[in-house]
Amino acid sequence: MIIPKNPKLTDAQLEEVTQIVAEFGCRIQVIEGAVQSIYAIVGDERHELLINRIEGLEYIDRLDTIQSPHKLLDIRSELKNHKTVFGGIELGKKLLAIAGPCTIDPANPNRFYETAEALKEAGVHALRGGVWKPRTNPYSYQGDNKALDILMEGARRTGLPVNTEVMDEENLKLALDAGVDMLQIGTRNALNYSLLRKVGQAIAGKNTVVLLKRGRHIGPINEFISAAEYIVNFGNPNVMLCPRGTLPSLEGYRNHPDESITPLIKEKTWAPVVVDPSHSVGKSVYVEACSMAAVAYGADGLCIEANIDPTRGLGDDPKQAITPEAFRQLMKKCQAIWNLRTSPESSEQAFFRQPIDRY
Ligand code: PEP
Ligand code: MN
Repeated sequence: MIIPKNPKLTDAQLEEVTQIVAEFGCRIQVIEGAVQSIYAIVGDERHELLINRIEGLEYIDRLDTIQSPHKLLDIRSELKNHKTVFGGIELGKKLLAIAGPCTIDPANPNRFYETAEALKEAGVHALRGGVWKPRTNPYSYQGDNKALDILMEGARRTGLPVNTEVMDEENLKLALDAGVDMLQIGTRNALNYSLLRKVGQAIAGKNTVVLLKRGRHIGPINEFISAAEYIVNFGNPNVMLCPRGTLPSLEGYRNHPDESITPLIKEKTWAPVVVDPSHSVGKSVYVEACSMAAVAYGADGLCIEANIDPTRGLGDDPKQAITPEAFRQLMKKCQAIWNLRTSPESSEQAFFRQPIDRY
């Protein structure tokens, strides 16, 4: 990847660089970071003559050939200085809280609006709400386009940004056209590379953020980060990685809780980690403990299922959603752990974000 001396290349400089790499069968993908744009060489960038020609240009600082399966998301990438901002929170600076029902009930819009207002009052930064649902049972409720209007009305009423899951290109287009701020890629599509590519293409040049869940079948951490690289390499670096439990489940829990992989993820990538405790444990009574553990392990944020009346919610809510009041209490405890973790006396700086060379 090419690092210019200035934050951005001029059009003429970009044209020159593009021509040089084309001679070696490569193309340039611009990744627009908040601080510095970088220029990924798509193709084999290790050709010695290519490196010399690019580094010989007076406006180029250097050419990094990071040997990593996810070179843009790698902790050593120039993009590590990228600041992801969502819901008014700069990730890493303050604890991000996303909450809302598993599934928006199109027959009861007021339940979503009341949940949204109550969560806002309890301090949430962004709302979640499922419009289209990946259900294990084909006869279960599958979602409804009408719920998208309800989600956006909830956003309008509260002024909060919103998250919803997209499972295919049709969902993706509808969600982006409606103005959804954060697209969720669920655990079942976490390794659907053609969808990941489509999402990357669709959000390039936009402020849209992606919450990429971890695939439910345990795979190496590089597999998780590489899935995110599929999105980022189209130019928008705003991807958050979301551990949400894996299969097989731990008896008594819905999945095998995996918030403890947060420090491992952070050794390898600069991307923010937002843990979903709700799907991880699958029972509302365990959500608080799992959230606190996630923050202790170094998570930058939480994505929690919450409903003013979980028993009457759709999808997962009767089992795992917490009330807005429980969310408020949970956040108080998580904030205390965050403060402990990030206080000047904490060893976090030494512990997290140390690049490693093992891949
Ligand atoms: C959800 O967020 O409601 C959901 C279905 O998530 P996951 O993909 O993690 O199961
Ligand atoms: Mn759910």
